[in-house]
Amino acid sequence: MIENPIKRRPTRKIRVGSVYVGGDAPISVQSMTNTETCDVDATVAQIQRCADAGADIMRVSVPSMEAAEAFGAIRKRVTVPLVADIHFDHRIALAVADYGADCLRINPGNIGSDQKVREVVAAARHHGISIRIGVNAGSLEKDLQKKYGEPTGQALLESALRHIDILDRLDFHEFKVSVKASNVFLTMDAYRLLSQQIDNPLHLGVTEAGIYRTGTVKSAIALGGLLMEGIGDTMRISLAAEPEDEIKIGFDILKSLGLRSNGINFIACPSCSRQEFNVIKVMQMLEERLEDIRTPMDVSVIGCKVNGPGEAKEADIGVVGASPRSLVYRNGEKSHLIDTDQLVEEIESMVRDRVKAIEEAKSKEIIRTSFE
Ligand code: SF4
Repeated sequence: MIENPIKRRPTRKIRVGSVYVGGDAPISVQSMTNTETCDVDATVAQIQRCADAGADIMRVSVPSMEAAEAFGAIRKRVTVPLVADIHFDHRIALAVADYGADCLRINPGNIGSDQKVREVVAAARHHGISIRIGVNAGSLEKDLQKKYGEPTGQALLESALRHIDILDRLDFHEFKVSVKASNVFLTMDAYRLLSQQIDNPLHLGVTEAGIYRTGTVKSAIALGGLLMEGIGDTMRISLAAEPEDEIKIGFDILKSLGLRSNGINFIACPSCSRQEFNVIKVMQMLEERLEDIRTPMDVSVIGCKVNGPGEAKEADIGVVGASPRSLVYRNGEKSHLIDTDQLVEEIESMVRDRVKAIEEAKSKEIIRTSFE
């Protein structure tokens, strides 16, 4: 087994409702609703779909006092921690703090007078709410645009430090920071600079990354690169796609780096003329059928004996394609043969049996330790 070389940068641990961010907490995956916040039913349904996909935290835009009220109704109907996204209007921040927000995404420098900032920070302190400072290359302050000529890592850092300084002066430290840009190099540069300056947790993201495929690639390069350097405590993949897809991709990036596990890690060959079954079709069907599984598990499904046994030996469940019967490995050992034309059904049932066994063992362990 190759040892994971990633050493996470030490950061202060903050809380977003029931989820810790930073320190030794797992890197959390979050997304943002794109429904009308005032449409409570639609927003709750979308948050639930994201939670089912594994979302640790969800963010909801709160552009008006009416939306703040809706936020309160949403808060009562979901359990996943909620970040209220607010721009400029401190009254909205105060309202959502009362309505049970777990975190406020608001930039202190944009709130207005010192008094308004103090009120928001006092409300956050009173309710045990954290704050996210979110600097974005697209909305950099005018003087910084002028000073640097264009958004640069240094410009994003300077902007972030201004907001951070306001919270520091108020002795408020329960905050995380993001410095997002749509450019891979700019994003990485800004986060690297910021990580050298503060020990608050960092919220990673490539903003406006684009549509599903290209945005995923861009995010995987920038966020993957930063995570490999140990930078990043929570992340959002910003795609012009469904929020639940953002969650799945976020986990896929973390899974690829061995930083989180969430559901099945499929190992499949790309297939070629040697394949003993239609690998692509089988994988598509398995992915769809097993989407609900959250238990971590390595499942290798390989088209023939060229690479099949090698991969199967490293997986929890491994299948080596052959005709008319394929060979199954369990826990790295040869187990039994299955009909190749029943691969999907057979693999699904093996996975579900394994999940059941793991869950049963877990609950027995919980009962055992509670009696000790
Ligand atoms: S494992 Fe077999 S079927 Fe899959 S790509 Fe390699 S040679 Fe082709």
